[in-house]
Formats: sequence, structure tokens, C-alpha cells
Amino acid sequence: MADSHRNAFENAQRQFDLAAEKLNLDHSLRRVLRVPQRELSVNFPVKMDNGEIQVFSGYRVQHNVSRGPAKGGIRYHPAVDIDEVRALAMWMTWKCALVNIPYGGAKGGVIVDPTKLSQSELERLTRRFATEISILVGAEKDIPAPDVGTNGQVMAWFMDTISMHRGYTVPAVITGKPVEVGGSLGRVEATGRGVSIVAREAAKHLGLRIEGATVVIQGFGNVGSVTADMMQRMGSKVIAVSDVSGGYYNRRGLNIPEMIAYTKQHRSLEGYQAEGIERVSNNELLEIECDILAPCALENQITEENAGRIRCKLLVEGANGPTTPEADDILFEKGIFVVPDILANAGGVTVSYFEWVQGLQEFFWTEEEINNKLERIMQHSFESVLAQTLKHKVSMRMGGYMVAVARVAEATQIRGIYP
Ligand code: NAD
Repeated sequence: MADSHRNAFENAQRQFDLAAEKLNLDHSLRRVLRVPQRELSVNFPVKMDNGEIQVFSGYRVQHNVSRGPAKGGIRYHPAVDIDEVRALAMWMTWKCALVNIPYGGAKGGVIVDPTKLSQSELERLTRRFATEISILVGAEKDIPAPDVGTNGQVMAWFMDTISMHRGYTVPAVITGKPVEVGGSLGRVEATGRGVSIVAREAAKHLGLRIEGATVVIQGFGNVGSVTADMMQRMGSKVIAVSDVSGGYYNRRGLNIPEMIAYTKQHRSLEGYQAEGIERVSNNELLEIECDILAPCALENQITEENAGRIRCKLLVEGANGPTTPEADDILFEKGIFVVPDILANAGGVTVSYFEWVQGLQEFFWTEEEINNKLERIMQHSFESVLAQTLKHKVSMRMGGYMVAVARVAEATQIRGIYP
């Protein structure tokens, strides 16, 4: 990774400060919006398969709930820390506001490498963490979802745990569940689908043909693999992808369905081989010349150290916070068009919102209805950010922040400060 030691929360605050300045936001409102409203830290024991007891640390942070209940994923990763969770919670607030769904922002995380746990250890860890943060979560107040290191099965255990406590099934307490237990059709693909929709819209704006465009993707989990698949279906050529095992590059194009099938079997691309593939490091991968670069792994991948060497025309942020504010300035000067995370990866929370609504109504929609609604929201959000960007001659990130922060500020102001 380019640099995983930068403080994501400082970056998030910096992005907010720049937008607040541009919006000429009232200083008292700035003080309210630049910090999270509520934070819970937990240390909890889990019985391991060998009978030993280990203690894990985790967090749930709610940034702002002026526009509705808190919403945000749960991450299982060894590099989780409170500042990362704060940053992710703040970005969720802006993202929900940007696509105009009635949520505030939250995030959760546990410091753990889930690939080192057995299924039963993962289940016990999830059930205990769900219990620890159950004082905050609920269908009407804080609704988690999957993020790095968690998936539909983890969401199902979480939902079951909360339901056991309540004594009845509460499907709307979490999203990203398998469809068999109240999940939504289209949710697994939603984030990657959204990334590819905005990539297509941005390419149209830039006069870049999406058919035949070369694409490089960092991260091959939920977001990265679906983005690769969707981009290829649109006719683009995915020439490089990477995951924790490193990068896989073939200028003539990769066999994405085969690589997806391989990761399903082996949990990562480690050991994947095919004719014409060149192995590259994750840092080298980011610097490959291409039309579209989509970082879909973790934060702080494009920094002031490597931004000058990025050689794409369009950068679409599938991951949260992959670009630091310093790198943003360099990319802007180089004329690289950046579709920011709060817009590019908002497809996930949008279909999570659909799942929550379906769960509350106990009435489920068809996949076609869901994909059409997602398409409309992503396209409309892209257009409103682009309009703001062109009007103020700023980057797409600033354009997106201006739309989102203004909405949250307005809601906070209209509700007033209690008491
Ligand atoms: P995931 O756990 O499914 O996949 C993460 C991928 O990143 C894996 O392929 C992993 O091997 C790779 N990775 C991890 N460490 C790496 C490293 N050091 N170098 C290169 N690759 C590395 O997670 P995901 O759900 O796909 O999330 C990826 C990003 O997208 C995160 O920033 C997340 O916050 C964001 N996001 C996810 C969703 C969602 O719906 N899942 C929605 C919005 C944003």
C-alpha cells in the first residue's frame, strides 16, 4: 500500500473544512459538523477454537443524524482504529446526503484479520460485537452494513443476534443480508454497479469511449470484482487488478469471470495463473497507463508521493478515502478527472436503503425495479455534482462536498440545537 499511516480522520476534516470555506458556512455549524456526535469503544472476549479466550477491540461511531438514522458499514481489518472509523462515519454522512437518502452517517470496525479466524470463531466474534454495540444499533436509529472483511453471512449473524435479544425477527436492523433472510436483490452488486455507472457518465462527459477503454482496478473484493465485471460488460478492457496478494497485469485484457471464480474458491487471487499475466506490486499497479483507474481497496493509496506518476484520464474512487487531499491537488493540476468516493461508491448505501425500506414494509421489489431506481439515483447525483463543479470551476470532490455539506448543514440548522 502506498501509505497506510496517514490519519484518515484528519484528511476527512480537511476535506470538510475546504468545502465549508467554499460554502461560506456559519462557524458554529462548522464546529458541529466537523466532529462525530457519538462514539462507542468496546473490548470484548471471544472463545477461540483451541479453548483460549482472546480480547478484541471494536468501535461504532455516529457522525451526524440530522437527516435520519445513522447508516454505515462494519469493517473487520487489522488496521482499524478509532480515527479511521471516525473518517468513514463522516464520509457516510456526506454520501447519504449526496444521493439524498434519509440517513446520517456511521461506521463500525473491529481490529481483527478475519482470514485468520475459523468460521465458528468469526461467528462468535460477530455475535459478541453485535451484542456490545446493540445499545446503539436499531432499525430506527443505526443500521450497519458490510464493509471490508465482512459479508452477507456476517450480516445474517448480526441480524440473528439482535433478533434473539428482542425475541422476534428484526430484518431492518442491518442491510447487506443474504436474500434468504430479508436481503435485497441487487445489493451484492450495488456498489460496483454504481461505480461503473458513474464511470460511464464521466467518460461520456470527457468524450472518452467506454467501449475499449482500458481499466485498472485496485482491490478485488466485493467492490473491485463487481466493478471489473460490470466494466467488462460495458465493453471496457480490464488490463490489471490486484488484491492483498499483489497485482495481475495483462495489456491484452484479463479473464475477469475466471478470476472471480478463483477468488470464490481460494478467498484471494494468491496463486492465480494465466497466460500472458505479469505480476506487479500494488504500488506499480496504480501507475499503469490506462483510461480509467478505480481504487477499490483501502484509504490513502494515492498520496503526494505517487500522485504525480498516476497516468489515467479518469479516476473513480470505489474505495473510501483512497486519495489524500495533497494528492487531490496534484491530480487536479494534471487534469485527471476524479469521481470522488462519496459519489462513486454510493450505490451500496443506496441499495442498502432500498433493503431497509423493503424490510420495514415487508414487501420486496424485483431486481429490475431495484437496478432501475439505482441507475436513476446515480445518474441524477452525478449530474448534480457535475453541474456544481462546472458552475464553481472546482474539482468533482469539491462539487460533491458542496452539495452534500449544504444539505446536512441545512437539516442541522432547521432542526435547531437542542435544548
Ligand atoms: P472486501 O473485503 O470485499 O475487499 C477488499 C479488497 O481489498 C480485497 O480484494 C483485499 O484483498 C484487498 N486489499 C486489502 N488489503 C489490500 C492491500 N494492502 N493492497 C491491495 N489490496 C488490498 O471489501 P469491499 O467491501 O470491496 O470494500 C472495498 C472498499 O470499498 C473499502 O474502502 C470500502 O469502505 C468501500 N466500500 C464498500 C462498500 C460495500 O458495499 N461493500 C460500499 C461503499 C464503499
